Amino acid sequence: MALLVVGSLALDSVETPFDKVEEALGGSATYISLAASYFAGPVYLVGTVGEDFPQRYVDLLSEHNIDLEGLKVEPGKTFRWGGKYHYDLNVRDTLFTELNVFEKFDPVIPDKFRKAQFVCLGNIDPVLQIKVLDQMENPLFVVCDTMNYWIEGRKDELLKLLKRVNVLIINDSEARLLAEEPNLIKAARMIREMGPEFLIIKKGEHGALLFSAETVFSAPAYPMESIFDPTGAGDTFAGGFIGYLHKTQDLSPENMKCAVVYGSAMASFCVEKFSVGALEKLSYLRVQDRFREFQKLSRFDEKD
Ligand code: AMP
Repeated sequence: MALLVVGSLALDSVETPFDKVEEALGGSATYISLAASYFAGPVYLVGTVGEDFPQRYVDLLSEHNIDLEGLKVEPGKTFRWGGKYHYDLNVRDTLFTELNVFEKFDPVIPDKFRKAQFVCLGNIDPVLQIKVLDQMENPLFVVCDTMNYWIEGRKDELLKLLKRVNVLIINDSEARLLAEEPNLIKAARMIREMGPEFLIIKKGEHGALLFSAETVFSAPAYPMESIFDPTGAGDTFAGGFIGYLHKTQDLSPENMKCAVVYGSAMASFCVEKFSVGALEKLSYLRVQDRFREFQKLSRFDEKD
């Protein structure tokens, strides 16, 4: 069994009220694959970078046993993204998006990767996400992310894609936009009717909701005193979620709940440092410890 991750690799310049960083490693595929690498291998990455992509970032991904056969180095510059967070870290302005080589990204899945049974489609054009699925032999479990930009600009393609994915992971405002429905519970039902058996709605520092035919499961967020940089938290969540399912090979609704909590645990590490700083030197034991802290957070018993 293997896990395929497709998405962006970026050089991020991020400013928060506390500090700033320039041209740090970022991108959806980066966060997803690093998070997933703590669970089970192999993790296959498909993406594109320019000739200026620093070798130390390639080394960092390789050191996490991420297979980079699908990483294309194209003539030109790497995708760059800049963001600035306000005092309320839930509010972010995008300062710039320089697509560079990412503009012509055309994911070609290497032969070896086509057999992967777990697939995580990072936030890219739904046309490309469909193209990835068309190249896969027989994927067992497909998770996908998207954003407002695609919901507004590529709705027809997104709706086609949703019929082919098992889990859609989006945030609350994206869910409302996709369903054109302000009530999240109703919106979730409507989105599940579009195709995905499971829907995860992320609510930032308020946790995440998992919707399935049987139930709604609510996972808390980890109460953190210092959030340093929220960039990539959503992608890291997705990486932890699918990484855990890839490791356990158990796709039951009950195990899906544990996967949501593992996703939340990974996201809680991500925000502790700039860029991927907190995802570089974790261990599975530390991840498990944090998972158990999540269990304590919302466990309660009724007295007779
Ligand atoms: P998130 O905080 O989950 O929204 O993810 C932030 C990451 O997404 C950053 O590392 C960016 O490099 C990357 N990113 C920002 N805009 C785009 C875009 N249009 N397409 C792909 N990746 C992007």
